[in-house]
Amino acid sequence: MDKLLEENTNTNTGNAGGPIERQEKSSDDNHAKNYYRKPYYQRRRKFYKQNQQQEKTQFKKLSIVIPLFNEEESLNPLTNEIRKALKQLEMGFEVIFVDDGSTDGSLKIVKDICRQDKRFKYVSFRKNYGKSAALQTGFKHVTGDVVVTMDADLQDDPNEIPNLLKKMNEGFDLVSGWKKKRHDPFIKKQSSKFFNFVTRIMSGIKLHDFNCGLKAYRREVTDNIKVYGELHRYMPVLADWEGFSVAEIVVTHHPRRYGKTKFGISRFFKGFVDLITVIFSTRYIKRPMHFFGFFGALSFIIGLLVNGYLTIDWINGKPLSNRPMLFLGMLLIIVGVQLFSVGLLGEMLVKSSLHDEEYIIKDKG
Ligand code: UDP
Ligand code: MG
Repeated sequence: MDKLLEENTNTNTGNAGGPIERQEKSSDDNHAKNYYRKPYYQRRRKFYKQNQQQEKTQFKKLSIVIPLFNEEESLNPLTNEIRKALKQLEMGFEVIFVDDGSTDGSLKIVKDICRQDKRFKYVSFRKNYGKSAALQTGFKHVTGDVVVTMDADLQDDPNEIPNLLKKMNEGFDLVSGWKKKRHDPFIKKQSSKFFNFVTRIMSGIKLHDFNCGLKAYRREVTDNIKVYGELHRYMPVLADWEGFSVAEIVVTHHPRRYGKTKFGISRFFKGFVDLITVIFSTRYIKRPMHFFGFFGALSFIIGLLVNGYLTIDWINGKPLSNRPMLFLGMLLIIVGVQLFSVGLLGEMLVKSSLHDEEYIIKDKG
């Protein structure tokens, strides 16, 4: 009998799946009536479904950060392309242009764009501080809960933004573009391949393209990661080591239409020095003894073994006057002690400067 009743209720109200969602679209009154006519367990089920739905499409507002340095010809076409690409996106957005001390007419054009459309904002530097500084400042001004960065030179395609967001909705904290088919000069492409290879090996992160201008971040990532110098190339590495999840999607890339690139060949030398900085500042900054202590101890022990061997020889009657190995042993012992002491000092510094806010808390109960 109970079962029969239940079936009846089901035919009256529909099951918890499709029909309920269709009813949602009818008038509020109707919706409330139907909602309370449903058995309690179905109402609960709908509640869970709604929550799941919310978790899947979490983002409410998109912020686009665009660093620019002398890109006057590209700015108007870029603005139009962004508007067109985001029309289909059912989500509010803002664009933050960061003028990195341009000396051409870029700032004037940016100001005009921002005056005509309130969704566009700008920050302008007094001098050229570099792309990382521009990004960091842009991140400080965002109000959305998801942040996309892109270059101003029309090489990145705004039509990829919905794809980035789709990937983010799978639960990633950072989604990076991969310029699989890249339109840049030959030397740049090859050196970039090498650079990506080394970064992949050293960081252990399986991305093909670390330095793509087009990336999407959950707001939490941009709030917590400090990017300075030229570390913008390593955003995925910095994010990964802070515990954020990182993914990659293939994006279209265009040749530069106007102006010229702002990064010469020197970028690659600087890039590798930066890689060492990144590895130190993420892996070892909180535990210097793991690095200095390890190499210090290693050097000390090898030095000790070398000199121990020489000492045994000396006891057996061989003079030490013509044994160059003695110097090597001594050097290794001294260097070992020094490295160890640097590690200890570093450890003491870390201990005395530790603040709780350096740890990123994901959730609290
Ligand atoms: N950029 C910047 N400050 C700089 C150098 C570059 O804001 O000091 C901007 C530049 O205007 C562009 C983006 O960073 O929007 C990428 O620069 P570029 O296209 O020269 O790099 P490439 O594509 O050659 O790697
Ligand atoms: Mg470019």
